[in-house]
Amino acid sequence: MPGPALVWFREDLRVGDNPALTHAVETGAPVLCLYLFDEESPEVRPLGGASRWFLHGSLTVLAERLAAIGGELLVMRGAARTVIPRVVEASGASHVLWNRRYGAEREIDAEIKARLKEAGVEARSCKARLLYEPGEVTTKTGGLYKVFTPYRNATLAYDPPPPPLPAPERIEKGSWPAAIRAEAIAIADLDLEPTKPDWAAGLRETWTRGEAGAQARLASFLDGPLSGYAGSRNRPDLETTSMLSAHLRFGDVSPRQIVHAALHARDAGRIPAEDYDMLRSELGWRDFSHQLLFAQPDIARTNMMRSYDAFPWRQDEAALAAWQRGRTGYPFVDAGMRQLWTTGFMHNRVRMVVGSFLVKHLLLDWRLGEDWFWDTLCDADPANNAASWQWVAGSGADASPYYRVFNPVTQGEKFDPAGDYVRRWVPELAGLPNTYVHRPWDASRNVLERANVTLGRSYPLPIVDHDEGRRRALDALAQMKKNA
Ligand code: FAD
Repeated sequence: MPGPALVWFREDLRVGDNPALTHAVETGAPVLCLYLFDEESPEVRPLGGASRWFLHGSLTVLAERLAAIGGELLVMRGAARTVIPRVVEASGASHVLWNRRYGAEREIDAEIKARLKEAGVEARSCKARLLYEPGEVTTKTGGLYKVFTPYRNATLAYDPPPPPLPAPERIEKGSWPAAIRAEAIAIADLDLEPTKPDWAAGLRETWTRGEAGAQARLASFLDGPLSGYAGSRNRPDLETTSMLSAHLRFGDVSPRQIVHAALHARDAGRIPAEDYDMLRSELGWRDFSHQLLFAQPDIARTNMMRSYDAFPWRQDEAALAAWQRGRTGYPFVDAGMRQLWTTGFMHNRVRMVVGSFLVKHLLLDWRLGEDWFWDTLCDADPANNAASWQWVAGSGADASPYYRVFNPVTQGEKFDPAGDYVRRWVPELAGLPNTYVHRPWDASRNVLERANVTLGRSYPLPIVDHDEGRRRALDALAQMKKNA
């Protein structure tokens, strides 16, 4: 008699377009659903605070969705290498299914797969997280692309990924042995949500975690900002992007669901082709970053360009704290850092500007920024965060060159022309006229007084002068080249 099929959920917290779940149902065997919270395996990077909060919601919704179709989600805690084989043995599962991951954790998965196979259990891993997996899109000589544009152009020659799988209508629930059930814990016992203090009010206002929340966000993106996305996605003052990143991180939604919904909208003439192409391209960056992570699982710590090991980073706790708290004296930078702290999100353009400010104007190591984002972003992602920080710092595979220093004032004036974004997140500057909202130090005493702004008191003076910061950054680059 074959045993039940065990689905091991990880970063795929949905029932729609979940190949591991669908294939488990297709075996015809009763299905056991497991989420294992693993902070013990050395390959697993413990989640930051905002991500833990998000995970709590996505898991709760997954448990409800599974229950609605007859299943049950069991939650456990522990190291996968010990827990998974024990659960399989105790439950007599004859099939174990999961969706693949691409960082250092894949070592764990490979070891478990080999052990299960030895024990005569069918272990099957599926593609669910990416449009194209590392190794699917290769150069003519079979290698991985290291530069994005040729990578993206190569993907365009491939067929679009197959349509997403529908959610199973019904799951025949397997029964857990008492010994395993005794080890199960409630989601609340994972202590993922903050209590004292409860800093998550702004996150709750921003996100509806879980599969239904992701689908609602996708629908409103398709009906609204996707039309015009190619032209307007760089504007943080307008709602022009999908805000699907945290849902993608935890797998509330799959990239294929997004692409097919957008494709459908394009083919029905509801959105221009260029907007679809731009969205595909952004999701291409996501795949590309995963490919970089796959090739070098420690990209959150190690410079991809090793010459950067000789970079003369400064140490300056006070400057780091001012950046983290949104008190650098540059309104566009401060707005971004405060949006991040309050909502667990920051617009992509602003991420690039605040990142550049940290590593260039402040000359602080990009890993400090990566760590802060890891803790505060709901979408903090092992591939996207690390690869993007290395892009900003110039140490990445296909990076923005270090000598290109973003000017936080002109970036603000270009992408937040009326200052609405700054006024929203830096309300102490709200009374300034548009001309000065990105450069309050240029305003006359009268203008400042009328706006109720006292520089150095109600709002900080710039922590570093732009031209001086730029010069210092370029000197540091020259120093690195000498050291390397
Ligand atoms: P949309 O514009 O709607 O894009 C749709 C999806 O495409 C996004 O949800 C995301 O999954 C993907 N995407 C878009 N831009 C990028 C990009 N440049 N790189 C990779 N994927 C992209 N993204 C994360 O998901 N997690 C991170 O931890 C993260 N850290 C970043 C750190 C820095 C310093 C920078 C510059 C960028 C970072 N990004 C990260 C990439 C990007 O900023 C976010 O994906 C994007 O802002 C999410 O907003 P959205 O969902 O509205 O994007």
